[in-house]
Amino acid sequence: MAHRAILHVDMDAFFVSVELLDRPELVGKPVIVGFPEGRSVVLSASYDCRARGVHSAMPMSQAIPLMPEATIVEPSHHKYAQASEQIMEYFRSLTPLVEQISVDEAFLDVTGSVRMLGGPVQIAQTIREHISQNMGLPSSVGIAKNKFVAKLASTYAKPNGMAVVAPERTEEFLRDLPVSKMWGVGKKTGEQLHALGIETVGELSRESEARLVSRLGEHGRSLYLLSRGIDDRPVEVTRDEKSISAEHTFSADVSDVQVLEGELLRLSHRVAKRLRGHGRAAGGVGLKIKYRDFTGVTRTKTLGAATDSSSAIGDAALSLLHKLSPLAQPVRLVGVRAERLQDPEVGLQLSLDPKDEKVREAERMADLIGQKFPQSLVTPARFLRPPE
Ligand SMILES: [Mg+2]
Repeated sequence: MAHRAILHVDMDAFFVSVELLDRPELVGKPVIVGFPEGRSVVLSASYDCRARGVHSAMPMSQAIPLMPEATIVEPSHHKYAQASEQIMEYFRSLTPLVEQISVDEAFLDVTGSVRMLGGPVQIAQTIREHISQNMGLPSSVGIAKNKFVAKLASTYAKPNGMAVVAPERTEEFLRDLPVSKMWGVGKKTGEQLHALGIETVGELSRESEARLVSRLGEHGRSLYLLSRGIDDRPVEVTRDEKSISAEHTFSADVSDVQVLEGELLRLSHRVAKRLRGHGRAAGGVGLKIKYRDFTGVTRTKTLGAATDSSSAIGDAALSLLHKLSPLAQPVRLVGVRAERLQDPEVGLQLSLDPKDEKVREAERMADLIGQKFPQSLVTPARFLRPPE
């Protein structure tokens, strides 16, 4: 069987690199992207900061003392979303098989593009040059026969590099890697493997499948296969949805603002639930109103931080409604739209307010219960339709 050619492209210190485009005086200096105060966390750090132990998701209060001379740049996610869109669009011009896995990372299956664009290594080189020359951004690329190895290779290549793992050298490449570098090996699994005396991927590959399954369940089976460089997961094309919306036409035209508010909250909840289902977050919210005479208005609001929360989207929709009141005429239709969809991690990390986190947790829980028991109609009380 011919091998697939999979690329994993990962932008280097993406948020920092994007910020440097507007702040050239900071090039080559230590930079941390994040809010300097409160409970904010590091969203991205330049490599010299990383060398001192600063990493993403670390509380700023912990990061700043490690690199006091670093310039703190406040995040502007619309810039990251825009750059991300441009990069992903470019990937899709090379192959239809693009799986975006975060704002700055994607898998490309270029098996079918090889004849047109040159070998996988040539394609990877073209990608790095294109992104660097056209956008001024550094990236790293891993090239391998499957997603698992390609992702490890890009990590190995960082920063601003490229690593090729030829199919026949896959096991050799994996042999000495610590198991903690493997996909799906978190702290807990790492400890379980350690207890079995397994530290490297090579050691893992010498275990029997039966023993791993008896200790780790089904997860043990997939780790067994991965450790031997076996990963048949396809590159799954992620759809490029631009927005998610929901609307409602009233049976009789409505002038009562409270009724409109209730309906907007219900629609916001529906939209947010779909966002969460798709693993997306909205960077903006749109409100659509159609009046009795079929004329309409739309209004949009850019959010401070991208969100997938029903209450945050509801709040934005209500504030748009309140800006329009008093309404020109009775309303026949209202709609809510989540726009500027992006990867949740861009925005959600920005607001690590425990209160927001609790709301998100509650909403996710309601989604889960709703999936398991579709009849249960779990809806936060605020989003229930008021009695008419
Ligand atoms: Mg990255």
